[in-house]
Amino acid sequence: MRIELANLEGGKGEFSATYETGQLELEDERVRLATPLTVNGQIKRSGAEVIVSGNITGKLFINCDRCLKPLETPLNNQFELDYVSGSDYEALPDTELTEEQMLISVFDGVAIDVDEIVKEQVLLAVPARILCSDDCKGICPTCGLDRNTTDCNCETSTSDPRWDALKSLKQR
Ligand SMILES: [Zn+2]
Ligand SMILES: [Zn+2]
Repeated sequence: MRIELANLEGGKGEFSATYETGQLELEDERVRLATPLTVNGQIKRSGAEVIVSGNITGKLFINCDRCLKPLETPLNNQFELDYVSGSDYEALPDTELTEEQMLISVFDGVAIDVDEIVKEQVLLAVPARILCSDDCKGICPTCGLDRNTTDCNCETSTSDPRWDALKSLKQR
């Protein structure tokens, strides 16, 4: 969904949208939607800036880092974003950007892409590391079985060729 600034009455408006599972292309293969996501927000022009705020709710599946099992994770994310058009951004004084200016996003000056906001916010909400349990045994690197549910008979020593070389030295 794109919001055309020209269509905003009095320079502001409200929006809401629902994204069905599978409707959002997330650029993180560990993550997909477990339920539809809902976004509700406000958009407001303020001088050269456009301020977009709102919240996103729903549920995600995020894969366990070790065994790749999808873990249902609630999402409830507030956001507030400042946009300026590309030309207005370039017109900012050429001194070092203040911390506030570094948080400014650039848009084409015509419309705000809500899909992009939602995707970005979802990925920001995903923790760098997530485990189904602290002692998740992960997947066997040899046969690919989930070691939490199946005991495979593979050699469990995670041998490193460098150590093997040392061992054979000792045996001489
Ligand atoms: Zn796991
Ligand atoms: Zn195995």
